[in-house]
Amino acid sequence: MCGIVGITGTERAAELAFLGLYGLQHRGQEAAGISAVDADGRARLHKAEGLVVEAFDDERLRELPGRTALGHVRYSTAGGVGLVNAQPIVVRYHQGDLALVHNGNITNAQVLREELVREGALFQSTVDSEVIVHLIARSREPTVELQLADALSRLAGAFSVLLTVGETLYAARDPWGYRPLIMGRLPDGGVAVASETCALDLIGARNFCTLGPGEVVRIEGDEITYLPRLEGAERQAPCIFELVYFARPDSRIWDVSVDRARRAFGRQLAKEHPVDADCVFSVPDSSNSAALGYAEESGIPLELGLIRNHYVGRTFIHPSQAGRDFKVRIKYNAVREVIEGKRVIVVDDSLVRGTTSRGLITMIREAGAKEVHFRVASPPVISPCYYGIDMPTRDELIGASHTIEEIREHLNVDSLGYLSLEGMHAAVAERGPFCDACFSGNYVAPLVDLKMGRPVSSHC
Ligand code: 5GP
Ligand code: MG
Repeated sequence: MCGIVGITGTERAAELAFLGLYGLQHRGQEAAGISAVDADGRARLHKAEGLVVEAFDDERLRELPGRTALGHVRYSTAGGVGLVNAQPIVVRYHQGDLALVHNGNITNAQVLREELVREGALFQSTVDSEVIVHLIARSREPTVELQLADALSRLAGAFSVLLTVGETLYAARDPWGYRPLIMGRLPDGGVAVASETCALDLIGARNFCTLGPGEVVRIEGDEITYLPRLEGAERQAPCIFELVYFARPDSRIWDVSVDRARRAFGRQLAKEHPVDADCVFSVPDSSNSAALGYAEESGIPLELGLIRNHYVGRTFIHPSQAGRDFKVRIKYNAVREVIEGKRVIVVDDSLVRGTTSRGLITMIREAGAKEVHFRVASPPVISPCYYGIDMPTRDELIGASHTIEEIREHLNVDSLGYLSLEGMHAAVAERGPFCDACFSGNYVAPLVDLKMGRPVSSHC
């Protein structure tokens, strides 16, 4: 997964892009990059592995002058690690310097890539995003905008993209609308576009406007022009996992408050799986809002039973401590005073492999819990995501191969309850329909690469 931001129409755009990326750090910690375009239309780029604050300092930002900038944070996927796969991608294009950032996963990228390679394209990375740049550069259409439309119309799957050609900023979402993209006006003129509103809040942008599925806009200074929509989706399919886990609760995406959606999931979960207990707590921070919803609905007091260390990064783990539970202990600790002798309800937002949860439950039991009731504020994850969420293969998904009772036994809990698929959709019924492929196996955008027997490419 990745986070993207675009700024135009204001001095020192790179500094605002930096702040925007800071607000999107949760969407990717592998690498960060910013490109900026100066008054002559020249794009400069800096990208580095690690967190946004590690990748940039004042001096680096000063070296990126200009009124238009793009930013990207990358979440690594197996195989796709390394600076070469970090973004923005910047190329010298016949119409001027072109820079691009992309969030999502293109599901026909391998097929397109092979076609482009046969035509002589030279790829620098293994990311699917590079396909977009080659498609634009090789399009036979006469104008930049027609070339962009031509390129984007050939893609299947998930793509929220921001692109600069000279000082002009373009923003587009795939016709299914998998990944979010929101525009806002900057206080001193100019426009910002970002994956989430929490990034726009941070840079003082106002008057948010969600880019709709298939929408393509051109932004020049303060002027936003809607270009012809991308067609081809059978139906809209914004990702519901963004609401479950990925986005920050202080964001609004698809005009839905992430906090309100998570609370609604938690309330619905309490209705579907009530249990008598002394307290409820979350697995911080991803399930805080869902646990609040569960507590509100059930009337059972919310506690802080687990504390998370926020400074855990790429930790050196001594081989003697390399056991599975150590990874959990380095990140979380139980509060004995809350847990000892109590019947506790632990709410998590999702269960993927089941490994973290198992370690956590051991910890909660060691802290003296009398009963442990585990509640998951989403349905069992049964199918991998091919649209940009980094999920393990089907074999590793505990929900794909085990019954609820087997999972309950594996986790060693007194009871286990998942939010139902219907309950999840009902909780956010005012929006949608959503993509729920990870919970249902129902893939909306075609999985061309998989059908051709090729792996889905390294994505973002
Ligand atoms: P499990 O032990 O079941 O594999 O992990 C479940 C936990 O992973 C949940 O607390 C959930 O918040 C978190 N989680 C869900 N999806 C992702 C993801 O894509 N990346 C990371 N790092 N954590 C995730
Ligand atoms: Mg979590």
